Amino acid sequence: MTLSKTVWSVLFRLFPCPVPVGLHRIGSPGRGSPVLLTCNFYLTVKRLKRVLRGTDAWLLVAESRGVNVWCAAGGDEFNTHSVVSVLKTSGIADRVDHRTVILPPLGGPGIRAVDVEKQTGWSVKWGPVKMTDLSAYLAGGMRRQEKMKRVTFDWKERLDVGLGSLFPFYFLFGLGFALFGRHLLADYLIIGAAAFVIFMLAEPWMPGERGIVKVLWLNGLLAVGLLATWIVPCPGGARVRADVIIAMVAFSVYGFELGGLASTMASELDPMLARLGIGAVGNLDFAGSVRTDLLNGNRRLVVDPVSCIGCRRCAEICPQGVWELSGEKHAILSRPAACTACRACLVQCPSGAIQAASVA
Ligand code: SF4
Ligand code: SF4
Repeated sequence: MTLSKTVWSVLFRLFPCPVPVGLHRIGSPGRGSPVLLTCNFYLTVKRLKRVLRGTDAWLLVAESRGVNVWCAAGGDEFNTHSVVSVLKTSGIADRVDHRTVILPPLGGPGIRAVDVEKQTGWSVKWGPVKMTDLSAYLAGGMRRQEKMKRVTFDWKERLDVGLGSLFPFYFLFGLGFALFGRHLLADYLIIGAAAFVIFMLAEPWMPGERGIVKVLWLNGLLAVGLLATWIVPCPGGARVRADVIIAMVAFSVYGFELGGLASTMASELDPMLARLGIGAVGNLDFAGSVRTDLLNGNRRLVVDPVSCIGCRRCAEICPQGVWELSGEKHAILSRPAACTACRACLVQCPSGAIQAASVA
């Protein structure tokens, strides 16, 4: 059962895989032990417990409808209410002498720290972006080094996140071949998997910033090869051409999805669906959402320097390190091109100084 849940949550990460909400012990926690909080996605809780092995801590698992932190916070399923609720009902207040809870910073678009603090009396600290840095963060007195505040998308993350998000497409295409093109099924399974590994490993070195541009280059090269098989006849030409087309389709799917997988890139899919007039898929809202407007360039982030109180919450939460403070007075969006429109700064700003203003 546990193995099947692990396999499901690794390969079908887009789908919920919930665990019960509540309080868990890591090691032998006492009244002074740190209190960490995460979502109720099976894989996240399992991995968190693994990286914290050897540490004594309390772990609060909050409602996110079985979805991972980043996606659930973006879809408002992991939110202020989830956090307030588990802090008030889990009994944690009776087990510790302090009132500090460590939250995952990728929950920033959903959980408003100032509201949690007001409603519970607990003080919120944002932990490191990567759970693998948690032990170092706790050992360092709960201070985040700069690198612990930023998202990355290294080769291990690309393979891990890519597998969980793209496997359903691989599976569906495989089903299509099994039903309608069985003679090409084995070719598809090998080429689709190889294309995935090649794309995810080589992604940073491909020309272009966006997944779709990278795919254009890649498929352009394959199209030249395809053309060559028509001009210069080769043995098994039809099969070779079919295989090249399979590779081109696989690269297209992976490249198009890349922006949605990479927390370092803006999504291609959300703005496109909004432009096509598709307002929502399930609980994901596209048309008219602030995020989509930011991605489509219909709005941009602006700061009202009069309202800004220089609290640095925006700079602390931004996973791209986009914000700077001018002489500690007010916030400045220093690298707007790096913004992926996650909305975390808008949610966290306590004074409403950050706005998503319409572009005339
Ligand atoms: S500046 Fe952009 S990337 Fe940074 S927190 Fe705000 S919306 Fe997210
Ligand atoms: S913009 Fe908002 S969050 Fe950022 S420093 Fe000013 S008041 Fe704080």
